[in-house]
Amino acid sequence: GKRSNLSIQEQRQSLPIYNLKEKLIEAVNKNQALVVIGETGSGKTTQLTQYLAEAGYTTKGRIGCTQPRRVAAMSVAKRVTEEVGCRLGEEVGYAIRFEDCTGPDTVIKYMTDGMLLREILIDENLSQYSVIMLDEAHERTIHTDVLFGLLKQLVKRRPDLRLIVTSATLDAEKFSGYFFNCKIFTIPGRIFPHVVLYAKQPESDYLDAALITVLQIHLEEPEGDILLFLTGQEEIDFACQILYERMKALGKNVPELIILPVYSALPSEMQSRIFDPAPPGKRKVVVATNIVEASLTIDGIFYVIDPGFAKQNVYNPKLGLDSLVITPISQASAKQRAGRAGRTGPGKCFRLYTESAFYNEMSPTLIPEIQRINLGSTTLALKAMEINDLLSFDFMDPPAPQAVSAMEQLYSLGALDEEGFLTRLGRKMAEFPLDPPLSKMLLANVDLGCSDEIMTIIAMIQTGNVFYRPREKQDRADQKRAKFFQPEGDHLTLLEVYKAWKATNFSGPWCFDNFVQSRSLRRAQDVRKQLMSIMDKHKLAVVSAGNNYTKITKAITAGFFFHVAKKDPQEGYRTLVENQPVYIHPSSALFQKQPDWVIYNELVMTTKEYMREVTAIDPKWLVELAPRFFKAADPTKMTKRKRQQR
Ligand code: ADP
Ligand code: MG
Repeated sequence: GKRSNLSIQEQRQSLPIYNLKEKLIEAVNKNQALVVIGETGSGKTTQLTQYLAEAGYTTKGRIGCTQPRRVAAMSVAKRVTEEVGCRLGEEVGYAIRFEDCTGPDTVIKYMTDGMLLREILIDENLSQYSVIMLDEAHERTIHTDVLFGLLKQLVKRRPDLRLIVTSATLDAEKFSGYFFNCKIFTIPGRIFPHVVLYAKQPESDYLDAALITVLQIHLEEPEGDILLFLTGQEEIDFACQILYERMKALGKNVPELIILPVYSALPSEMQSRIFDPAPPGKRKVVVATNIVEASLTIDGIFYVIDPGFAKQNVYNPKLGLDSLVITPISQASAKQRAGRAGRTGPGKCFRLYTESAFYNEMSPTLIPEIQRINLGSTTLALKAMEINDLLSFDFMDPPAPQAVSAMEQLYSLGALDEEGFLTRLGRKMAEFPLDPPLSKMLLANVDLGCSDEIMTIIAMIQTGNVFYRPREKQDRADQKRAKFFQPEGDHLTLLEVYKAWKATNFSGPWCFDNFVQSRSLRRAQDVRKQLMSIMDKHKLAVVSAGNNYTKITKAITAGFFFHVAKKDPQEGYRTLVENQPVYIHPSSALFQKQPDWVIYNELVMTTKEYMREVTAIDPKWLVELAPRFFKAADPTKMTKRKRQQR
């Protein structure tokens, strides 16, 4: 694009927000709380923090800016360091779970909303900060919603603190109403008209339709880059492979298509490449998750392909847990996606669903996470802040009734007592940035004597996608993976991979030879370090179980006892709690073996409901390890214990 020839300062000055600088600073000076709305790309995230720093707000404290997504926090911080002319961790830094890239000089701090929630847990006055900007608040993550409530109280206690909430236009009035009818500041947009085209009939295979559309645009439409929205890493990698192959088949007669995947697990070097303009005569296609819907802005996009789906964390009341499910997006999201096409010129958006589906089948706005998911770790965090009564907390929208089931879960784990108050174990659990079953697993094993191994297992689970399977070398990759398989199951297989890597002194080439993602392992190493320092702080012993793997599987059971499944004589497994059919994935260490009783980390719905990270257990342990959950000694007769409702 044209913009790339401008210097970074000229780019800053060409943003719509630039002319409003004085007015914005004045509005922040005069209003303790302020809602700011403006088109994506207008400069809210990268500029507002810098303007406030220039206006002197950093002499009194830090400017903190939250993002719902990790990638956005990292990427935006990096961009701002380039604009400011410093390195990450100097004046500008970021903090995400398990990664703190800030230093003593950091005055502009980008972070995930989850991180700010942890900070307010430790210092309820957020005394380090002079300004808090809750960015992308319309995403309505559970963390943002809880922060809303806590910050609403905090601004009363700290008249010097400034609160800025940025949001999509649709939610502005609601947000302002919640924050004492505060002022709404609008940054006028600069959006070109764009054409929206609908599918004539519903598409049976949206992925295939999307790939066909990419090539049609590339071959038939005038210049301009393409943005395709897909739902997750696997789907995106697969789509990129297919595009490579089809482009190869077309030969040298067609212009080059630069194919760029974007998802949160992508290494940051790769992620910065998406911002590079395509060289003349070439076109780029960015195949991305929702990240690019609003949190990141890529210039030069003229064509958007929107299949109408996204992966969402949804609570499944039947199973009593959350799982990632591919769900239709909202009308608001669809409009936002289409808007990506009209930023630098008049663009086109191809919706791969019918006009009638848009109006009749999509909900107008996103349903807030607080009404969709299990509230386990949030409940724990609130209880640790002495907010015991969730029902009277000033939420913008009330939690779904399953909040009660989160309380049940915490009670079963031993984190709450009969009255609903935090136990000593619960208080310790709240110190770890982990879901309650994971922190229970870690703390239970302190007694069992295997905290060393459990930290590794948790770290490996947290990083996800340890193995990779390139399409042309699948058999070879599968053989390599099978070498790590442990008879107990996938948790210990992950442990084995980490140990083997450690034995090579954390070698990168070793990862490559074994089809293991070195980046995931390095991240696991980081997570392990963080967990280790929290263990240290609380003087919890780090002990190795040596070869006693029973101790380890018991510790896993102590955290995940509600994820027990029993073999179904007909086919697959049935969950113990709700008798739902579930399956062992072919890539699991236990796929061949199919033991009678297993425990799993999570369920992932693809063609079937698959269990992820499966380990064989002895059902006799259940009563011993989860006495509040199981009362019958005979696991076939297990029922949930009732308890008093607080
Ligand atoms: P908003 O928060 O209002 O959506 P941003 O502050 O994120 O806007 O972005 C403002 C502008 O800065 C974008 O239009 C884009 O031109 C530029 N920009 C943002 N991030 C990057 C990046 N990582 N690389 C290059 N340019 C960027
Ligand atoms: Mg932004």
